[in-house]
Amino acid sequence: MTRPTLSHAAMTQFPLAGDELLVGGMPLTRLAERVGQTPFYAYDRQAISARIDSLKAVLPARLELHYAIKANPMPALVAHIASRVDGLDVASAGEMRVALDAGMPAAAISFAGPGKRPQELRQAVAAGVCLNAESITELQRLHEASQALGVPARVALRVNPDFELKSSGMRMGGGAKPFGIDAEAIPAALRRLAELELQFEGFHLYAGSQSLRAEALIDAQSASFELALRLAADAPGPLRILNLGGGFGVPYFPGEARLDLAPIADHLAALDAQLLSAQPQARLALELGRYLVAEAGVYVCRVQDIKQSRDTTFLITDGGLHQHLAASGNFGQVIRKNYPVLLGNKAGQSADQRYSVVGPLCTPLDVLGSEVMLPQAAIGDLFVVLQSGAYGASASPRGFLSHPDVIEILV
Ligand SMILES: *Cc1c(COP(=O)(O)O)cnc(C)c1O
Repeated sequence: MTRPTLSHAAMTQFPLAGDELLVGGMPLTRLAERVGQTPFYAYDRQAISARIDSLKAVLPARLELHYAIKANPMPALVAHIASRVDGLDVASAGEMRVALDAGMPAAAISFAGPGKRPQELRQAVAAGVCLNAESITELQRLHEASQALGVPARVALRVNPDFELKSSGMRMGGGAKPFGIDAEAIPAALRRLAELELQFEGFHLYAGSQSLRAEALIDAQSASFELALRLAADAPGPLRILNLGGGFGVPYFPGEARLDLAPIADHLAALDAQLLSAQPQARLALELGRYLVAEAGVYVCRVQDIKQSRDTTFLITDGGLHQHLAASGNFGQVIRKNYPVLLGNKAGQSADQRYSVVGPLCTPLDVLGSEVMLPQAAIGDLFVVLQSGAYGASASPRGFLSHPDVIEILV
């Protein structure tokens, strides 16, 4: 039987020193000693900064680059990013607190999400952040909060567009969706917003996540832009912000290549120029989560046992799906595929042995690598899952089976 020959995109964000992977400039074995336990997540400041710098170098200068906190809400990481981007996007009052603690001015924070509780809306009005309203009910509640507090509510409307982001990992708009207000209902929502004396800020669209096709992102951005300009004709005031969402993907699986930014940046420059003449007060915004942080993070666990079962050699680690649901294939994947993995203390050695890598949970779903190639392994080795900076610790069922919790560090 021939095995598939597809390989992972080259991962060069962490250099080697001898056999050791360097994370935050420190050999992984020593970093594990510093942390004092496995498993842990480590996020590399340098890698995050480099990613943001490379984006800023190509995006139009007037465009606002926002970070969507839900990708990774670790407070130290959010604070690191806050000083390097133009805004933060939050999806709960808890995330709003992290964003404000990070020092981001309220004026540069926006709050989206279906089913915001009345209390959260009131907190957001009190804080002075921009609310991305997702229903008429929310508009009514924002009016009430604004009246009660004597503070004007700054409101953008989240639009559920009449198209989808093609070939994305997760579709967040188009068709029947709980997110946003259907495009055809926006004119009525704008009238209601004006009657309720809410301060109109603009539109927010978010078509989908994890797209690796520049063409698909460009199409969605074009369609979002045109739709928003059409809808702006019914707005009670000038457009200030046109948030085109995120969705930039990173390569996780064999055969995937990094997103080609150049055509996206060129296209955004053209949209920016168009916006400047049509709505001079308005700024374009991108809200990226995964793209800013995913490649800067590693998940590190330790081999606890090595077992041969019939034709398969299992590495049993102290990490698993309870801490890294996405790498186990149970967070939005249809067919399980392997994340890029390695042995962090043997990263310089040739990967010529085949292993299946599992966690300690009593479920066959607890797989971190199926039939992956690694150097000859030993108990005590550090097993590393790359591309782990987004949708990791906070997107995993950490209470499942009551193991000790994972630690997160920023290095
Ligand atoms: C999750 C989310 C994002 C971030 O998406 P990524 O695919 O991680 O870039 C942006 N905006 C909204 C509204 C979201 O819900």
